[in-house]
Amino acid sequence: MLTEAYALWIVPPAEKVRHATRPRPGAWIQGDVVQVLCEKKVKAPFATPYGKTPRSNGIDERCPECLQALVDETSRNWDA
Ligand SMILES: [Zn+2]
Repeated sequence: MLTEAYALWIVPPAEKVRHATRPRPGAWIQGDVVQVLCEKKVKAPFATPYGKTPRSNGIDERCPECLQALVDETSRNWDA
């Protein structure tokens, strides 16, 4: 399926590295548990209030295990 062909790099609350995940962020509810590619379960990033810069903005470090789990997906950073 086309929607599974890409991954998003998210920064879970209180973390400083990005993990990759495949589900669409539109389907997440704040505080939801999200399965990321390195098998960890993390919390969905909290939504940033309108007009504020997301906390994860500027975080570019990526989890090496998630990176390895990506095969040929396109991936991009996603900030809540
Ligand atoms: Zn990871």
